[in-house]
Amino acid sequence: MSSVLDRFLKYVSIHTTSQEDITEIPSTKRQFNLANLLVTELQALGLMDASVDEHCYVIATLQSNLSKDLTDKVPVLCLCAHMDTSPEEPGENIKPQIIKNYDGGDIVLPGNPNLVISPQETPSLKKFIGSDVVTSDGTTLLGGDDKAGIAAIMTAIATLVSDPSIKHGTIKIVFTPDEEVGHGVEALDVKSLSADFGYTIDGDEMGVLESETFNAAGGSITITGFNFHPGYAKDKMVNAVRILGDIISQFPKDQAPETTEKREGYYHVLSAKGSVNEAKLRFILRDFDLAELHQKMKKIEEIIKQIQEQNPKAKIEFDLKEQYKNMKYQLDKVPHVVDYAEEAIKRAGVEVIRKPVRGGTDGARLSYMGLPTPNIFAGSINFHSKKEFVPVIAMEKSVETILNLLQIYVEKSI
Ligand SMILES: [Zn+2]
Repeated sequence: MSSVLDRFLKYVSIHTTSQEDITEIPSTKRQFNLANLLVTELQALGLMDASVDEHCYVIATLQSNLSKDLTDKVPVLCLCAHMDTSPEEPGENIKPQIIKNYDGGDIVLPGNPNLVISPQETPSLKKFIGSDVVTSDGTTLLGGDDKAGIAAIMTAIATLVSDPSIKHGTIKIVFTPDEEVGHGVEALDVKSLSADFGYTIDGDEMGVLESETFNAAGGSITITGFNFHPGYAKDKMVNAVRILGDIISQFPKDQAPETTEKREGYYHVLSAKGSVNEAKLRFILRDFDLAELHQKMKKIEEIIKQIQEQNPKAKIEFDLKEQYKNMKYQLDKVPHVVDYAEEAIKRAGVEVIRKPVRGGTDGARLSYMGLPTPNIFAGSINFHSKKEFVPVIAMEKSVETILNLLQIYVEKSI
């Protein structure tokens, strides 16, 4: 199964960084380079319907190898991973280094010797002593998020194609663009997939199974002020950027990304820019509890109302809307979807790690588009960072988990 590493190294060599604030999907044309390669590979494996559409969705079908009767009984599963890498760190010209037989010490990144991946900072590294570990050279991210997931799915499919003794139902494969900029499944025609349940292979550490995400809202606040010569501005100038500062100071400091963890929600100022004449703030709100998220949305409106009252000459406009919901509410309706995934991980001899995602996933959106989709590990750790790394064993276990999962669906349907 070492071919999962070969595939992974090939996929990370292709630059697929997505871009924020672009309305078209895909946000960057370069994502087609990987999409086209995957289509070619899927077709070479015999998935002749493999294709990429104008929005860069790669879709393919592996037909069931069960009898007609059984095929009708086994749910159609969708395996999903994303092709883009985060625009937060460079993703071009990735030079992976493979640490053979990791010894438990610090890993120095050769292209940036100041950067060290250490077991002190990333304790889970210790679990992989004796395994081969892949890192970037320290000048880019690695791209294991989510090319490790793509490599795991492709390797699982290749295994099924080469070994017809492994029985499976119909499988849909979906590779998406733009997950990292929040548009991963927006233009995907979920109904046409005719899948019953989905799994994104986009979780981090080996063993991770995620069925809960944040509820999310976000928006922007725009303040229009009025400029005047500062020497003669008394009672005339309306300083938009100062008002913006007042608004930011009202965002609770103890409920920010940098002061919260685990199940705590937050208010987050994403960006602020401005001048006397105009200032603009972008923000997001997150909470695992939907009622709490609504409270946070209300608080934003109260802050704006209060600051507007204090600054009657300024014009303060805002937009605020819900972005996605906790997928738990959908997955609780079909508990076997998560139970089978848990069983599949255990059968691979891996300890299951259940934790809420402090973010969203494509699966969260898919779950609300009618395709219940939890998230299974792909094995990479330290997402969106130059310190990202992936143990080879974790990718192999991801492949094994996928194969187990397909088996479990067959077993439970007979
Ligand atoms: Zn990801």
